[in-house]
Amino acid sequence: LPTKLPHTGTTIFTVMSALAAEHGAVNLGQGFPDFGTDPALLQAVTDAMAAGYNQYPPMTGVPALRQAVAAKLNALYGSAYDADRDITITAGGTQGLITAIHACVGAGDEVIIIEPAYDSYDPAIRLAGAVPVGVPMTLDYRLDWDAVRAAVTPRTRALVLNTPHNPSGRIATADDQRELAQIAEQHDLFVVSDEVYEHMVFDGAAHESVARHPGLRERSFLVSSFGKTFHVTGWKVGFVAAPPALSAAFRRLHQYTVFTVHTPTQHAIAAYLADPAPWQGLSGFYQAKRDAFRAAIEGTPLKLLPCEGTYFQTVDYRAVSDKTELEFARWLTTEVGVAAIPLSVFYQQPQERGHVRFCFAKRDETLAKAAQCLQALA
Ligand code: PMP
Ligand code: GLN
Repeated sequence: LPTKLPHTGTTIFTVMSALAAEHGAVNLGQGFPDFGTDPALLQAVTDAMAAGYNQYPPMTGVPALRQAVAAKLNALYGSAYDADRDITITAGGTQGLITAIHACVGAGDEVIIIEPAYDSYDPAIRLAGAVPVGVPMTLDYRLDWDAVRAAVTPRTRALVLNTPHNPSGRIATADDQRELAQIAEQHDLFVVSDEVYEHMVFDGAAHESVARHPGLRERSFLVSSFGKTFHVTGWKVGFVAAPPALSAAFRRLHQYTVFTVHTPTQHAIAAYLADPAPWQGLSGFYQAKRDAFRAAIEGTPLKLLPCEGTYFQTVDYRAVSDKTELEFARWLTTEVGVAAIPLSVFYQQPQERGHVRFCFAKRDETLAKAAQCLQALA
């Protein structure tokens, strides 16, 4: 067989979830809620099926959903996306990301990714024949624009940004977006903006979407996912918003990769979006879980790092162990009973900083059980 991605193993999320299941550990590794979604949303899917929405929708997605997405983006971020021209419904954030990357880069191009970087960016870029160039964040996981500037070459074609950021839990500021706009304009770069955690920002902060910034919006693919927003990661429905030329390029690929995605789910989400309360309440919902989880493990020797958004809490375990991050995450799963994700896997050249990530999108009982296991570290 021709070997694509010869140096790529199985994604860490699959590896750690399997290990957690094998050892009966509390799975705070892979990011997904262990609680259900709103019954009204489930009913809306049943209703859509019963109403006969079971055949192909338009290639770009169900019109009502595209309209609901455009209306929400435009109201929140002051943009003017057109539902027909600029919004495409995707099979989750993952397909939005890979299709956007393939739409804007090709053989020999360089693409800047900010490390630690979510694990699908690097392979998506390589599959496009391009070269991922990892630029580290600062030691406290802030965006380092001097390092980004230093990494730009005449071959740099695009930059992938993720805010709120998985795995660090940091968020980009308005100043970060101004820096990005300046660099992108100066070097004529595309931006692939992964905003799947757009509705999970804490302590009163605002999500800084590329859609808010005219200089960025016109060169950006904004990627988001309903899996995160509505607690349905298995539904795999998301969207990409991009200006006309970028959306046209995106759709040329989208039509021959998935063509379109599950019809009744799209109708259900469109209807559900009529009420803003569920997504407006999401930051408060997860902030309470963050606070409860942090309080519950505060007495352990794990050092809590800042968490400004997402549903991930990163900790420094150096006071407990000098194992590598992967070894520590495996040990924590098999011996302590709590699965975590090592941050080292999110770098091209593995870093060993003694940091692992816990997902707190879990029932209060699950978080309490995990915290109880982690007390054994004290
Ligand atoms: N980007 C980031 C940063 C993510 O954390 C995830 C999911 N964990 C995705 C993209 C993929 O989203 P989806 O599950 O909708 O494909
Ligand atoms: N995005 C999720 C995480 O960061 C997992 C996604 C996946 O399992 N591929 O944990």
